[in-house]
Amino acid sequence: MGTMDTDQLKDLSDRHIAATYSRFPVVLVKGHGCKVWDSEGKEYLDFVGGLAVCNLGHCHANIVRAIKEQVERLIHVSNLYYTEPQTELAKLLTDNSFADRVFFCNSGAEANEAAIKLARKHAKERKGQGRFEIITTINSFHGRTMATVTATGQEKFHKGFEPLLPGFSYVPFNDLEVLERSINESTCAVMVEPIQGEGGVNCPSGNYLKGLRKICDRHDVLLIFDEVQVGMGRTGTLFAYEGYGVEPDIMTLAKGLGGGLPIGAMLAKEDVASSFVPGSHATTFGGNPVVTASALAAVNTILKNGVLENCIEVGDYLSKELGRLRQKYPFIKDLRGKGLIIGMELEFDGGDIVRACLERGVLINCTMGTVLRFLPPLIVTKGEVDAMIRVLDEVLSHV
Ligand SMILES: *Cc1c(COP(=O)(O)O)cnc(C)c1O
Repeated sequence: MGTMDTDQLKDLSDRHIAATYSRFPVVLVKGHGCKVWDSEGKEYLDFVGGLAVCNLGHCHANIVRAIKEQVERLIHVSNLYYTEPQTELAKLLTDNSFADRVFFCNSGAEANEAAIKLARKHAKERKGQGRFEIITTINSFHGRTMATVTATGQEKFHKGFEPLLPGFSYVPFNDLEVLERSINESTCAVMVEPIQGEGGVNCPSGNYLKGLRKICDRHDVLLIFDEVQVGMGRTGTLFAYEGYGVEPDIMTLAKGLGGGLPIGAMLAKEDVASSFVPGSHATTFGGNPVVTASALAAVNTILKNGVLENCIEVGDYLSKELGRLRQKYPFIKDLRGKGLIIGMELEFDGGDIVRACLERGVLINCTMGTVLRFLPPLIVTKGEVDAMIRVLDEVLSHV
């Protein structure tokens, strides 16, 4: 590896990179499929998938090829000009969704910023200046910019950054009554994740999402689905909303969209999207040729190569295997999820479990302190699930 040894690199990183992450003590240097390798040559089975980004695994041939071809032709020109991959990606996304138009940006937070701005502008134009409030849910996660951290319904992310942006209020997830009571003459939109990811893999109960749609229609406010984490095949359909039979007015994407490169997208129907006109919103990098070429390859591969079918089949298998562990260990409080986003809630902090798995060559994540979160690439095999479960079982047996 380079000119530095592993300890030198960790030390330099800890000294010179903003200390916003406490990192695990490994330097990852290579990835293929559902495996990554560290600088000492140790192999890991990856059930984090770059936080729901590497939906096709690491360095998938289609993505590597698309990036290489594009990077040799045109890397960046700005959005002052038409470019091919961006246009093709917009066509592919709109052909396969409820939406008519796409705004490309660079991250999930930016996609949600665009959604918030569009919802406000749309409501002000249609219904007057007083319409700007957005209702989100408790334990949601929408990003770290000032608007999206405000939208995020978790105090721990707000602390130290007040004053927050005006115009946001929070209601419990899965509670339609409180939501309906909270809508008033200043409400312009309701924004939810179809499944709360960071907040602990909280799934919508029964007809929650359908109920949201009805309430939004009844009060003439927009419904925004943040599919940054659960879109791009994660739940077994290209977009999570398809699996619940409910269409939003605006949807945001990022994480799995770019095949590993940073991209975000905000999609909307024409009637709503038309509130954005030249000058309304912009981004220098958004939808640049390289990231959109990569995303185009990623979306095409997810749609055509049996990836969604594998997500459902292996997701069911993973759920079943985790269910066996739940039977075995009474400290496992709950198991929930859909497709290949699964949360296993423990009675205690999961940090030690994550570290013990890492030592044994398995990467898993923990969110909300006590929820082990499994977000493997959608191409993961049953054999890889078995290998992960063996390690997790052993680690849990030592609790
Ligand atoms: C990760 C995430 C975001 C933020 O995305 P970034 O790319 O980190 O800005 C927003 N919403 C949801 C649901 C997410 O999971």
